[in-house]
Amino acid sequence: MTWPPETDEEKRAVHRRQLEGAPALAHIETFAPPPKPTLPLDPEAVKRLLALKAALLKDRGVRHSPESAMAKLYASEMASRVANKALQIHGGQGYSKEFDAERHVRDARITEIYEGTSEIQRMIISGNLLKD
Ligand SMILES: Cc1cc2nc3c(=O)[nH]c(=O)nc-3n(C[C@H](O)[C@H](O)[C@H](O)COP(=O)(O)OP(=O)(O)OC[C@H]3O[C@@H](n4cnc5c(N)ncnc54)[C@H](O)[C@@H]3O)c2cc1C
Repeated sequence: MTWPPETDEEKRAVHRRQLEGAPALAHIETFAPPPKPTLPLDPEAVKRLLALKAALLKDRGVRHSPESAMAKLYASEMASRVANKALQIHGGQGYSKEFDAERHVRDARITEIYEGTSEIQRMIISGNLLKD
């Protein structure tokens, strides 16, 4: 099966699948892990384009829940990934509170929790993909 599901049959299969007694949608991360680009992308550009797309739809008065969820999810998880890398580069000093790197990790990490956790953003996105 391709991901995201495209055909009606694929969408029905995702709905049917049960994991640990809960609807598969509740465990969407199990079989739809966050994409890991194999090509170097410009994360700043991707983040901005996703945010601009959501903002454009909002300005037009169009429903924009999945687009907003994608922008929030991507920006917060990428910020965490980048901050973690920065900490790692600084080694033990990166972990120390004497330097800024550890604060950047916490500041980025919280964006995966407040204003809608990453799990909830994924549920919004996957729910929209499986609509109809
Ligand atoms: C520094 C900070 C500032 C905050 N500021 C504000 C603020 O200004 N205003 C405000 O209203 N709130 C604020 N919050 C609260 C924040 O929005 C909540 O912590 C956040 O919404 C998560 O809710 P929770 O902590 O109750 O976690 P829970 O809802 O208990 O969730 C725990 C974990 O389970 C996951 N989860 C929950 N339900 C599901 C599900 N159905 N499927 C899969 N996974 C699920 C969540 O994603 C999370 O990872 C703040 C929190 C912090 C830490």
